[in-house]
Amino acid sequence: MRLKELPSEFQEALPVLEKIKAAGFEAYFVGGSVRDALLKRPIHDVDIATSSYPQETKAIFERTVDIGIEHGTVLVLENGGEYEVTTFRTEDVYVDYRRPKSVSFVRSLEEDLKRRDFTVNAFALAEDAQVIDLFDGLADLENQVLRAVGKAEERFSEDALRIMRGLRFSASLDFAIEDQTFAAMKTYAPLLEKISVERSFIEFDKLLTAPHWQQGLAALIDAGVYDYLPDLRNKSQQLASMLEDYADDFVIATSEQAWSALCLALKIRDCKPFLKKWKTPSHFQKTVTDLVAIYRHRLQASHNKQTIYRYGKELAELAENLRQGQGLAVDFDLISQLDASLLIHDKKEIVVNGCLLMKDLGLKPGPTLGQLLNQIEAAIVEGDLANQQEAILDFVRDRSK
Ligand code: ATP
Ligand code: MG
Repeated sequence: MRLKELPSEFQEALPVLEKIKAAGFEAYFVGGSVRDALLKRPIHDVDIATSSYPQETKAIFERTVDIGIEHGTVLVLENGGEYEVTTFRTEDVYVDYRRPKSVSFVRSLEEDLKRRDFTVNAFALAEDAQVIDLFDGLADLENQVLRAVGKAEERFSEDALRIMRGLRFSASLDFAIEDQTFAAMKTYAPLLEKISVERSFIEFDKLLTAPHWQQGLAALIDAGVYDYLPDLRNKSQQLASMLEDYADDFVIATSEQAWSALCLALKIRDCKPFLKKWKTPSHFQKTVTDLVAIYRHRLQASHNKQTIYRYGKELAELAENLRQGQGLAVDFDLISQLDASLLIHDKKEIVVNGCLLMKDLGLKPGPTLGQLLNQIEAAIVEGDLANQQEAILDFVRDRSK
């Protein structure tokens, strides 16, 4: 099969292919970008595979960066773009079900395509727009089926992350997982305990924020994968409630929203320890915790100036959007109105600080001063006090009488 024309992202990268070929090697576009081009989806990261070894690749181009030489990857800067150029390789011995013990560079494209995870990820695209399809990936694309390359059992036992990747692709592509591939996912799910949590997080996060996350999550539950993910052991019912709680076409907008929805479905009181188990950064833990707090606040009461000030418009809208997905009453206008009416959005915007109060009014440092500053902040947020120096000083004088 030949593409009618190369999408512009590949056209721009053609000089890289041409230079490698002029040096006497083979080179192809590979991986997700070829899949996405065939699906007429937006293309990111044009990856190139080549028969040239890393040192040979480096010798061809003026500007390169060693980004993963031990895996055969050289970053080539060419024609205003950055391209990962990776030597054809096989990954032979897996020691810890996670990373191959050794990577062997080979000169054969076929060997390289054989080690890829799914048939729809194992195409190569030549410079003349010819698609090389050694595993009937085109038929699988047509039928919207996700199938492991070769023997599924072997592929998942070599690298269990592929199980998470498979679930994630079923969510992003809206593909059904082929029966034997799915059976092997079930069988080898326990190996996920050996996979680094960070890598599982990336895949689970991509799954939850994908357009067809319900399909991916349903498959994750069916395959029993949750039992081998941090803090999700025996949580199938709670996870299934996440499927029931939202409208079929509800798409999750951000990672923070996804993990908030997850914490809510799991009925977790304090999200931080859970998110810590998933090794997420502390700012992420904080945002999710806040988002869950606003969502819970909204179950009891409507928003007011203080809640919008405390959590911010953006988080309030994300929480409201979760309500919308659940078919609960929403009021986005109120959030906008309250936000627009706020005189300040941050403590730092207050024109008076503790030093000034001490200097101008002779106040002493200590808890009373702290309380006074909090009262000033609350009064400005409420709109009862102007954010002006004289008005604030009068306010303080009144209170210190
Ligand atoms: P995305 O669109 O999310 O980037 P992708 O398919 O490009 O999806 P990448 O993680 O960028 O995924 O990997 C690029 C390619 O490398 C894949 O298409 C696949 O061929 C191969 N690949 C990546 N990870 C694995 C793995 N764990 N096992 C086998 N092949 C893999
Ligand atoms: Mg990619």
